[in-house]
Amino acid sequence: MDESIPTTLPALPTNYNQRVAIPIPLTPPRKQFVVAILLLLSSFAPLALAQTQPPASPSPAKPPLMVPFTPQPKPTPPAPPRTLILLDPAHGGPDTGAHLPGNLLEKDITLAFNNRLRALLTAADFAVISTRTSDPSTLFTTDQRAEIANHARAAVCLTLHATGSGTGVHLFTSALTPPAHPTHVLHWDTAQAASVADGRLIAVAIRSALIQARLPATSARASVRPLDNLTCPAIAIEIAPLADPSSSPTPVSDSAYQQHIAEAIVAALTDWRTANLAGAGR
Ligand SMILES: [Zn+2]
Repeated sequence: MDESIPTTLPALPTNYNQRVAIPIPLTPPRKQFVVAILLLLSSFAPLALAQTQPPASPSPAKPPLMVPFTPQPKPTPPAPPRTLILLDPAHGGPDTGAHLPGNLLEKDITLAFNNRLRALLTAADFAVISTRTSDPSTLFTTDQRAEIANHARAAVCLTLHATGSGTGVHLFTSALTPPAHPTHVLHWDTAQAASVADGRLIAVAIRSALIQARLPATSARASVRPLDNLTCPAIAIEIAPLADPSSSPTPVSDSAYQQHIAEAIVAALTDWRTANLAGAGR
C-alpha cells in the first residue's frame, strides 16, 4: 500500500466559502505531471496579463515647443595684426649727436620727434616700437638698435636724426645693391640689401607726402648705420631747420614744425599700408 496517500480526508467545510487545503503528496510521476501543468500555465501567463491590461491610451499631443528666434550676432572676425613701425631716435646718452643752434642737442630733438611721431602712428592704428623712450645713461650702439629692430620684425624702420644745416627733411636709404636672386642668408653688414627696394619705394611715398604738405624734402642713398644692418625696409629721416626767405628759419625744435612733418610721414605710411594690404589680398 502506498503510505503517502492519506487514507482519511479532512472533513468538508460546512461553510462552502471556506477553503480547505487538501494535501496531495507528490510521487515522482505525479510531480512531473504537476510541473508540466504549471509550466504550461506559466507560458500563458504573460499573454493573459497582456490581454488583461487596458490598451495604452495615446498620450495627448504635446504642443510644439515654441522657442523665440533670437538672431545670433555674427562672430567678429579677428582683427588683422597691426602694421608694426620701428622708430629709432638716433644718438642718446654720452652720444649727443650734433650740437644744433639754440644750444640744442640732436639726441634730445630725435627723442622729442620720436614721441610725436609715435603718438600719431598709434592714433592711425599702427603698432609702434621705439628703440629708446628716454635718454640712456650709457652708450646705445647702432648694433644694439639693429638687434632690437631685427628681432621685432617691423614692417618699416625709421631712423630719426636732426641737423642744423640744409632745409626741410632729408631722407636716406641704404646704398646697398638689391641681391640679384632672393636669398635666405642675410649678412649683418648687408642685411638691408634684401629690403632696400621696398625701403626706396616707401621713401618716395614719404617724400611725396612731405612735398604735398609744402615741406622741402630731398632723398639720397647713404650707408648710414644702422640702416645697412636692418632686415626691414629702412629709411633715415633727418630733420633740418625750415628756411624762410622772409624771416629766420624755423628751428628743428619747433613743435608745430615737427607736427607738420610727422603728419605727412603718417599720411604716407597710411597710404602705403592700404596699398600693401590690398596687394597681399587682404
Ligand atoms: Zn644724427
